[in-house]
Amino acid sequence: MKKALFATLCSIFLCTSCNSEKEPADILILNATVLDVETGEETPGRLIAISGDTIRAVESMDSEDQFEAARFIDAQNAFVMPGLWDMHVHFRGGDTLIQENKNLLPLFLAYGVTTVRDAGGDITPSLLEWRKEIKNRQLNGPAIFTSGPKLDGPSPAWPGSIEVATREDIPAALDSLDRLDVDFVKVYDGSLSEDVFYGIITAAEERGYKTTGHMPMTADFMKAVDLGLAGSEHLYYVLKACSPKADSLTQVNPTYGMMNEIIDSYDPDLAQRVYAKLKEKKVYITPTLHIGKTLAEMLDVDHSRDTLLTYMGSGIKETYRGRIEGAKRARAAGSTMREKMGQISDEMTKPMFDAGVPLLAGSDCGAFNSYVYPGGSLQNELERLVATGLTPTEALKTSVVNGPAFFELEEYYGSIESGKVADILILEKNPFQDIEHLREVKAIMAKGQLFEKSDLQEMMQAVKE
Ligand SMILES: [Zn+2]
Repeated sequence: MKKALFATLCSIFLCTSCNSEKEPADILILNATVLDVETGEETPGRLIAISGDTIRAVESMDSEDQFEAARFIDAQNAFVMPGLWDMHVHFRGGDTLIQENKNLLPLFLAYGVTTVRDAGGDITPSLLEWRKEIKNRQLNGPAIFTSGPKLDGPSPAWPGSIEVATREDIPAALDSLDRLDVDFVKVYDGSLSEDVFYGIITAAEERGYKTTGHMPMTADFMKAVDLGLAGSEHLYYVLKACSPKADSLTQVNPTYGMMNEIIDSYDPDLAQRVYAKLKEKKVYITPTLHIGKTLAEMLDVDHSRDTLLTYMGSGIKETYRGRIEGAKRARAAGSTMREKMGQISDEMTKPMFDAGVPLLAGSDCGAFNSYVYPGGSLQNELERLVATGLTPTEALKTSVVNGPAFFELEEYYGSIESGKVADILILEKNPFQDIEHLREVKAIMAKGQLFEKSDLQEMMQAVKE
């Protein structure tokens, strides 16, 4: 972040100290229709000057001759907005899948995703290396924010997690995360105790980390919110808080087995009080609707011809078996929990948004999450958000505006304005009118580096080879 600001200051200094009347820029985008996702405004006829990784100026086309640039792009009235943020992805699968994970990085760019929030995995050293290489333009991919390893209990659900059995283990676990230089803390509920979960939230906050993730079913969501929980992944835990039966069900059977009754006893009035609190405390909720639907319908949908399946490595495709077998077992046992969860998730989303809860667009793509593909699945998630009743502009806000807001980086991201990072998506058609127009990517800029359509197609082709 400091680097972007430094670059801006340097270029202003260079300009005022030289005699040229024209302002130098690396790239000028001409005839852009700039979209403001926050306000829904569309401003045609703009010129955007980019130097290094930063937007230097956004002016009317009348000021074109005030600038000189090494490269010009005529947007021909195409629509220009900030790059997309996918706030829930995974890089994982152990050492044997490191290369396959790395191969997928360009797919995010090809689908307009310039930033991802990695919600925990088991190849953290590689991921941190890529984070650095992408920052230095040595590798093509989205900017990466990562939690590093998940924090879980003494028998973690996912490989690579840090085991936190008691409150005494928390400082050492956070020390490990400090050493890795992670961006936030992700908790998981494989075997995490309620008390340790609460302890992590408080201790992480004291060190300046935001905590998000799963929650042990024994725990009380609203208590976690009061302790400073910054976010919650998927809707199980919010949903639990919206059932008046939650306390009694927790006494009897504190497992996901309670979800059927939780769903059946969802109370819209109680939900409004929960949502008001989430708004007040700025708790970021990531509904992950697309993966919910994909997993619920997995046995009934033929994925063999999915365009993006052909880009997945054989090792990653192999990891899809687990979810498929799980779905078969659930069906054999007569469980309809996933289907019901999908339905109630769709019903809750718009009321949450309308109540002012900050929602985040997250796909949950990655190995083990069958048929949820990098890049494409974030577009699917935005389409699902629209299907629940959000306007396309509101859905985009959950990605482009709320993504940076989670990390308190609004100053640098979220709009096409002077001083912001040059992560830019150029679209043939207006996504405010139809969210599917996101699929018509004309070009993308990641930290000022331009990828035209042909570059993106070449990168995609290279993934297959
Ligand atoms: Zn996940």
